Amino acid sequence: MRTEPHSAAQEAHGAVAAPCPGVDAGTLEDIRRIWGFDTLRPLQSEAIAAGIAGRDSLVVMPTGGGKSLCYQVPPLAAARAGDTRIDVCVSPLIALMKDQVDGLRSNGYPAAALHSGMSGDDRDGVRRAVRAGDVRLLFVSPERLLAPGFDTWLGTVGVRAIAIDEAHCISQWGHDFRPEYRQLARLRAAFPRASLHACTATATPRVQQDIVAQLELRDPLLLVGSFDRPNLVYRIEPRVDGRRQLLEVLGRHRGDAVIVYCLSRKDTESLAEFLRKEGFHAGAYHAGMPPEDRARVQEAFSEERLDVVVATVAFGMGIDRSNVRAVVHMTMPRSIEHYQQETGRAGRDGLESECVLFHSYADVVKWNSIADGSADEARARIEDTGDGDALDALEASLAQGRAQLEAMQRLAASPVCRHRWIVEHFGQSFPERGPGGCGACDVCLGEVRMAPDSTTIARKLLSAVARTGQRYGAAYVADVARGAETEEVARRGHAGLPTFGALRGEDRATLTNYVFQLVEHGLLARTDDEHPVLRLTGEGLGALRGEREVPLRAPPKGRGRKHATAKAVHGAHEVDTALFDRLRALRRDLASARGVPPYLIFSDATLLELASRRPRTLEELATVKGVGEKKLADLGPAFLAAINE
Ligand code: ADP
Ligand code: ZN
Repeated sequence: MRTEPHSAAQEAHGAVAAPCPGVDAGTLEDIRRIWGFDTLRPLQSEAIAAGIAGRDSLVVMPTGGGKSLCYQVPPLAAARAGDTRIDVCVSPLIALMKDQVDGLRSNGYPAAALHSGMSGDDRDGVRRAVRAGDVRLLFVSPERLLAPGFDTWLGTVGVRAIAIDEAHCISQWGHDFRPEYRQLARLRAAFPRASLHACTATATPRVQQDIVAQLELRDPLLLVGSFDRPNLVYRIEPRVDGRRQLLEVLGRHRGDAVIVYCLSRKDTESLAEFLRKEGFHAGAYHAGMPPEDRARVQEAFSEERLDVVVATVAFGMGIDRSNVRAVVHMTMPRSIEHYQQETGRAGRDGLESECVLFHSYADVVKWNSIADGSADEARARIEDTGDGDALDALEASLAQGRAQLEAMQRLAASPVCRHRWIVEHFGQSFPERGPGGCGACDVCLGEVRMAPDSTTIARKLLSAVARTGQRYGAAYVADVARGAETEEVARRGHAGLPTFGALRGEDRATLTNYVFQLVEHGLLARTDDEHPVLRLTGEGLGALRGEREVPLRAPPKGRGRKHATAKAVHGAHEVDTALFDRLRALRRDLASARGVPPYLIFSDATLLELASRRPRTLEELATVKGVGEKKLADLGPAFLAAINE
């Protein structure tokens, strides 16, 4: 096993032994005792200081950046200062609330939730505990917080601060607008003396401004972290044989958590079925499934009983598993914003994880036809009402959708560092990183290969289009070029053409993909009819005459790919992978005995540190990141026994 210096991930996310401005020693002691963290990440200290001081704030950090600590720590400091008021956290999903509360309580933190999934008795119990001062952070849904009566009751308790988690849900410009979040615009008036703290991972300035405006934040402290996720390795490849390519990725992740995104519900089911036959623990998830089935899949995934979820984008916010090691897109998302959001579900624990996108021009065609379909419907509806403004707004949003799709297409097609491209897309600059580039994308890792002789291949394909009269689709053109003696070829008499078999030896999927790449390069145009056919554009004619070079990306080879797995190396220590697997099994057993998801026991990051440092005593164990006082007492002996076995 190799030893490597700390990854960029750890540098950016982890141990920065900086002083923590505005955070007092008592608070740092709380953080060490409860969470087992010795240091705060840079924006965390500022956000926590604002929370303690009661200054409104908006915290924008990528997934896994550590937003929750920003609103979990201040209530403890307030309590120590003798403040009797309570902090409230608004969260969009009951599942998210439950997990946070379970996690906090297992650390000995005084948190509770009130939601519709609880019995009346449980709710009464929480209310009594709040009255008695035994709860410092109360999680509620937006509906409940503003329900008549509840706000008055809270008013009598006294509310110090309100944190709004997933705050982008308030904005219709976000990817996850929720009407019930809109009501939060009344928070300011309902709780005029409480400070408001919004958190989100959404990168766009428009959404950020909208959050500030909707919540009427007063002179908010704006803390925007880097949108880069250095622990994610991005790979973007042409889709030639999607299933085979997927199997190759999954082969690197046996036993790991993986999310596979598909465009259609049907695809999720057939692909999940296929993966089960291939021996994976895989399940499908989409919005058309009965809610019980969806909940079952989500739960199995969260409890580590299911490894692979094949899903539409409906599988999203409720995913709490922090050790998702790969997110695979079988088709291109419709914008970089969506791509960033969906890939962001990988590696929340800060460990190396992989994001692989398989794309083809067919995806663009599909998105356009979906957009056209809904645009026609919307236009028809608006035209009935004769509302000119609405029509303008519709056209503007359609144009925006097209521009976003094109931006995504350019990212997929350009051999430029993926990390850099994404960060710059969101308006941030990307630091120069030596000759090896980011070291965490297919481009910088040198995996992007161009087909040798790609200009010649392109000319032969263009010629096949021209010689067959510009009347056929990509697959047929591929057949002619590879010299396939199909019935259609025979019937149309194309076997006698000089281009017939000009690319003999290449397989159909590869050639079809090349044809799609020619469309992406603007050398071929696809007609819009029911049976689209390919025509040469002016540029295509030029290329056919040999007037320009045409780069074509070779299909991925697969084998022999460099992939430093997160498990192999941790900091300067070598990891005992057999021990890591044993600790994972112990974690799963403890979790199921206690009825909580495994990541609430310890994160993968903590297990990895255990498997590399092998602490022998409780004192040594206490210095491991993620081991606070309560867990040390509670779980320490079991883990020490497993390590010393
Ligand atoms: P977010 O809500 O921004 O997605 P979380 O609050 O869930 O992120 O934190 C992500 C991970 O980082 C968690 O596993 C958490 O325990 C860990 N973490 C947060 N803050 C720190 C810190 N200061 N030191 C070490 N680990 C941290
Ligand atoms: Zn790169």
